[in-house]
Amino acid sequence: MDLSNKAKQINPSLTLEITAKAKELKEAGIDVVSFGAGEPDFNTPENIIKAAIRAMEEGKTKYTATSGILDLRNAICEKFKVDNGLLYKPNQIVVSTGAKQSLANAFLAILNKGDEVIIPVPYWVSYPELVKLSDGVPIFVNTLKENDYKYTIKDLEKVVTKKTKAILLNSPNNPTGSIYTKEELREIAEFAKKYDLIIVSDEIYEKLIYDGNKHISIASLSEDAYKRTIVINGLSKSYAMTGWRIGYSACSEEMSKLMSSIQSHVTSNINSISQYAAVEALTGTQESIKIMIQEFEKRRNYMIDRLNNIEGISYIRPSGAFYIMVCIEGFYGKNINGNIIKSSLDFSKSILEEENVAVIPGIAFGLDEYIRLSYATSINVIEEGLNRIENYLRKLK
Ligand code: PMP
Ligand code: GLU
Repeated sequence: MDLSNKAKQINPSLTLEITAKAKELKEAGIDVVSFGAGEPDFNTPENIIKAAIRAMEEGKTKYTATSGILDLRNAICEKFKVDNGLLYKPNQIVVSTGAKQSLANAFLAILNKGDEVIIPVPYWVSYPELVKLSDGVPIFVNTLKENDYKYTIKDLEKVVTKKTKAILLNSPNNPTGSIYTKEELREIAEFAKKYDLIIVSDEIYEKLIYDGNKHISIASLSEDAYKRTIVINGLSKSYAMTGWRIGYSACSEEMSKLMSSIQSHVTSNINSISQYAAVEALTGTQESIKIMIQEFEKRRNYMIDRLNNIEGISYIRPSGAFYIMVCIEGFYGKNINGNIIKSSLDFSKSILEEENVAVIPGIAFGLDEYIRLSYATSINVIEEGLNRIENYLRKLK
């Protein structure tokens, strides 16, 4: 049967695939340690769960406005004002089924066939596929290790063309955990102005920042940046709400209207219960969030300490999010039980078989010399996982 050529070009999400595989093995009784998907191991805070139960009991179980209930969009506007110094009206906000759908809406709303979107390498696994789904062309920009894999204007100038429509920015970054400074963001905003580009700024890890750093939204840097930026955010990571599927976008009324119109035909509103839970998440106590962030920072520090003592590897020191990219290139060409490790995919398959450790191969993010370890999991699990990684590396000859 002749199925969609476009669909055939879309690669499945490796992050989700490997995480599902690890869960499957665990359910089969195998003692797997997963450094897979970036999913907080914490339960959603109690006050949020209670708000959801209340919403169900009060019969708030019907369709809502496509873009989300007004209370939630007002709460999101207030969050932008307080956290980012950004002023939006509720009709500039679209609440979607995860930040993933917000990104999909954004690309569908702005791209015409053949329009190019600049995406930095390493990138989060879904960006190129979402661009392709919208008939756009992902254009990868290589970044330097010396600059923590953040792009500079010099890098961007090399890839910009007449067809460039948008530029993707993800700070704090998945998978590197790098954060762009205000000065770097200012230069990117100037670059976008010079070439009249839309900035798609994925800020989903904004609250997961360590060492006393502060998140800056590029949209807040000037009137011009505000107009040309689509801010993407969501509650999955910072509120431990991955399964609730709550993401949102903020941008000009014109773009928001298009995004809402697209969504109205694809999924309508996000589920009503999640919306009431999200209102509580954003307006209720933030105490449990603070505790989670402190815990992530502790885990990051523990991982760094341990990685510093493992021979033959290096890593990118993360300032935010909950991932560490570990360079394993030094082990390429070595073998274990007759299998030669030549790529990050070989490595991740082999370590799962040999040591029951799930890691994401760097190739998912365009960097084949690395594996990504998520530390959104308990210290005990991290400790055991790192023991096994050390053990595995010793066995590679
Ligand atoms: N952006 C980035 C950078 C991510 O890591 C994720 C993780 N899934 C998402 C967007 C999407 O998150 P969600 O759809 O769960 O809101
Ligand atoms: N964003 C998370 C990750 O990178 C969750 C999985 C996914 O949505 O791809 O692991």
